[in-house]
Amino acid sequence: MERWKKLLRKATGRPGGADEVARAFPVRLSPHVLELVKAGSEAIRKQFFPDPAELASSQDLLSDPLGEENLSPVPNIVHKYPDRCLFLVSSECAAYCRFCTRKRKFGCGKGIDPSDLEPGFGYIAKHPAIRDVLVSGGDPFLLDDDRLESILERLRKIKHVEIIRIGTRVPFSLPERVTAKLARMLRKYHPIYVNVHLNHPDELDAKTVKALERLADAGIPLGSQTVLLKGVNDSVETMRNLMKKLLAARVRPYYIFQCDLVFGTDHFRTPLAKGLEIMKGLRCWISGLGVPAFAIDLPGGGGKVQLVPDSLVSRDKNTLVFDNYLGHPYPYPDVGG
Ligand SMILES: *Cc1c(COP(=O)(O)O)cnc(C)c1O
Repeated sequence: MERWKKLLRKATGRPGGADEVARAFPVRLSPHVLELVKAGSEAIRKQFFPDPAELASSQDLLSDPLGEENLSPVPNIVHKYPDRCLFLVSSECAAYCRFCTRKRKFGCGKGIDPSDLEPGFGYIAKHPAIRDVLVSGGDPFLLDDDRLESILERLRKIKHVEIIRIGTRVPFSLPERVTAKLARMLRKYHPIYVNVHLNHPDELDAKTVKALERLADAGIPLGSQTVLLKGVNDSVETMRNLMKKLLAARVRPYYIFQCDLVFGTDHFRTPLAKGLEIMKGLRCWISGLGVPAFAIDLPGGGGKVQLVPDSLVSRDKNTLVFDNYLGHPYPYPDVGG
């Protein structure tokens, strides 16, 4: 306990600094996170250790950046798109990312009880257009096996729910939680997809790779979501390494997200041009399987938009000229009409 405190004090640079930040947004570290920070990972330290910069938020930043409260027809459901919805089943994570989109929800003392999910089940059952339920939180893998299973069982009983997706950071933040028993339970409810939040190659150590392997061996297609963060992963080299390591761990990179406009995250923000530069450094440079979509989840509930680097350099009637990945121009004759 004392060693954690010392590390935190060092992180904020002054005694009491960590307490001050932790009052605004709780601090939680897991043994695995701490182990990797102690081993020297700056990228992981910056994501989880409190920083006084969190207390100085610019006006652009919001407590509910995705407008989720307005898109919530019943508690714990966020329904934005026609055929799928988010179902928030847990209010806790193994470790709290400082840039969490839902940090408004944490540390307010009220957890999610099983009975709090009843309106959500009712809503999904009453909306046959919902084919895809994203079970998220918090982290669903922080629920014990029985409780998580009861949720999956209930969802599977709803005929129109075709696929269930679980969003989690646990394969990294608490890899020992991904037991053989958990994997055996999950595979009973296929088609289950698991999307893992992973931001830096340091996060894919042997323990995390093993946890991912357990899930993949249970026949679960794995995807990743990465948040683009200044000073953590905002370079082509880091992202290339991350995507290559993900593929080797049988995770198909799915999204790189522009950091949401969450209050207290000015110090993590990157210009959109940075994300586009990274995408340019991925396409053709690594396997296409390892190239995720770069997206902004628009503030105010607009949904996701994908940003793609522009490769069209000029056009003369039907002849278009594209820059290839090396920056060399190649004409392409389009058909008219
Ligand atoms: C991101 C998100 C989804 C899923 O979007 P996909 O592009 O299908 O992964 C669904 N609902 C909400 C509210 C979301 O924010």
